[in-house]
Amino acid sequence: MKARSVLSLLLLMPALVAGSPSRPAPKPILGVDPAYIQTATSPCKDFYGFANGAFDQVAIPGEYASYGVNQEIDERNFTLLKGILEASARKGGAKGSSGQRVGDFYAAGMDEARIEKAGLTPLAPVFHAIQAVKTPKELVAMLGRLHVLGVQASFSFGVQVDDKDSSAMIASFYQGGLGLPERDYYLRPGKEADEIRQAYGRHIASLFTLSGDEPTAAQAKAAKVLALETKLAQASRTLVDLRDPQANYHKVARKELGALAAIDWDTYFAAVALPSAEAHVLVGQPEFFKALAGLTASEPMEDWRTYLRWHVLRSASPFLGKAFVSENFAFYGKVLSGTTELRPRWKRVLASADRALGEDLGQLFVKTAFSPAAKERALKMVHFHKEAMRARILAADWMVEATKAQALKKLDTMRSKVGYPDRWRDYSALKVSRQSFLANVQTASAFEFRRRMAKLGKPVDRNEWFMTPQTNNAYYDPSLNEMCFPAGILQPPFFDEKADDAANYGALASTIGHELTHGFDDQGRQYDWQGNLKDWWTAEDAKRFEARAGHIVKQYEAFEVLPGLHINGKQTLGENIADIGGLRVSYEAYKLAIKGKTLRPVDGYTPDQRFFIAFAQGWRTNQRPEALRLGVTTDVHSPVRWRVLGPVADFPEFRKAFSCEAAPTSQAPTAIW
Ligand SMILES: [Zn+2]
Repeated sequence: MKARSVLSLLLLMPALVAGSPSRPAPKPILGVDPAYIQTATSPCKDFYGFANGAFDQVAIPGEYASYGVNQEIDERNFTLLKGILEASARKGGAKGSSGQRVGDFYAAGMDEARIEKAGLTPLAPVFHAIQAVKTPKELVAMLGRLHVLGVQASFSFGVQVDDKDSSAMIASFYQGGLGLPERDYYLRPGKEADEIRQAYGRHIASLFTLSGDEPTAAQAKAAKVLALETKLAQASRTLVDLRDPQANYHKVARKELGALAAIDWDTYFAAVALPSAEAHVLVGQPEFFKALAGLTASEPMEDWRTYLRWHVLRSASPFLGKAFVSENFAFYGKVLSGTTELRPRWKRVLASADRALGEDLGQLFVKTAFSPAAKERALKMVHFHKEAMRARILAADWMVEATKAQALKKLDTMRSKVGYPDRWRDYSALKVSRQSFLANVQTASAFEFRRRMAKLGKPVDRNEWFMTPQTNNAYYDPSLNEMCFPAGILQPPFFDEKADDAANYGALASTIGHELTHGFDDQGRQYDWQGNLKDWWTAEDAKRFEARAGHIVKQYEAFEVLPGLHINGKQTLGENIADIGGLRVSYEAYKLAIKGKTLRPVDGYTPDQRFFIAFAQGWRTNQRPEALRLGVTTDVHSPVRWRVLGPVADFPEFRKAFSCEAAPTSQAPTAIW
């Protein structure tokens, strides 16, 4: 994924809100904006600083962990979506229509008085059921019930394309069940890590207190939760280990599951209504489930009940009354990501509506935000990117012909989804009302859970979208061998129907070039053209690929983000390969697109300079130190500055465009594609 930062989600940008006549005219949004360039900085020494130096002065609004180009785009998308939601809430709409669903969902979410009055009543049935859990079997049944409601306790369960049989859907188990972002948060030594763990403990205790416990009892319970989660963390794999698709693939016959881990699997399957015809499942991390089975037997049931109650509270807090929302923000917003202000309520409700009714909302969004002409131009850009990649594969002197033929087949069969789905998701079975925000969220989770389960035993649906059309992001899916570019990201300054190719190709290098390269990064290359996890490389080619990838690991590990804090080269390898290859492929695609055309310099910058500046400005973002630190620990992407500096480090045309000296000959080449 292009994904920016785990926590940088939502925003504010008043300039484009249709203004009163007294407001100044909105500033045009440019793919290359000279106002952000810091000419005093040498483009050869610090290209990010050169292209974005003047943006450093833009303050990060309190509600953000990071603020930059993505937040500007998000803000405009949100403003548009807010208008849609408000109009739907006002108009109502025929029962069961998309207007009724999104309108009622929004109205219920905005009705703070009703939410406050309801208190914890919507959770009473589930708390009651947790209190009745007395045995490991009942615990497993409860986990199933919670998973349907979207509470991620103990582990994750889902349905996916079988990595080794891309024509089939399969149920899949994965490690999980932590309240902190990642295993290292529990196990890392040091003062800073200790402080976060202590703050987490206080947060758990506060939520227990808010839900009716005496403070002393709440503290004791928080300690139990932290201890149990630490045991789950100890059994979990690191982010680096999770990046190896072969090592995280274990297809197990249903009847063999008991031998793998002593969990009452049949009880779980009954609780989630897994069809009994399913003969096999995937277990990503068998040792995690073995350890979990041990814990269900060794830990007192009272501690498990406490743990379940905590996860219900944690997952429901954003949808409860003010005290819960504030406490949730105090830890997850302030402590973990450094934001100082809670986002306005409408943005939070909008984010929930996006998760619950994404394509209902998307249908209304694309009507105004993405024209047929925009779709046509974006498709043309994708076409040139694929042509550029074809040339890169043909020119790869380190690959033998047989491997090249396979790579070309993968490229030729790679599908592209642009803008919005051809067929919209049907939400007609989802009942939404104005009675309860939390009930709507839970009903939508259950609806989504059942929708996924219903895929089992059916052919893979190649029309499904895994992001909503209004999402400002993109993805490559190796099992489906497809790229997806939602309308939400094909917005200025990344993409402008009216901009020239230098600006559009430069700005979308981090999107189209990037996602395309994911098909051939260290993970993507392990999947064949049909989307199967299957080795199609000769041993020599694989060795040469890995040697090149090794240079990239070293290159990024040398980058120091904060004093003493370096990028983890292995954790970010796939994204770094996609960033480096993405810029290269987009540059070649841009050259194909402008063949026979003459682009003019603008504001004193040549077309090639503008291509590279558009690329770098597409990453302009100011980040709080907490968010940077969180990203380096938990994100598979490098921080933004190095997403620019890494790719331009080994790029002769870049050096030529800015008259830089040649790269030192000691510098190892990092271009794979
Ligand atoms: Zn990516």
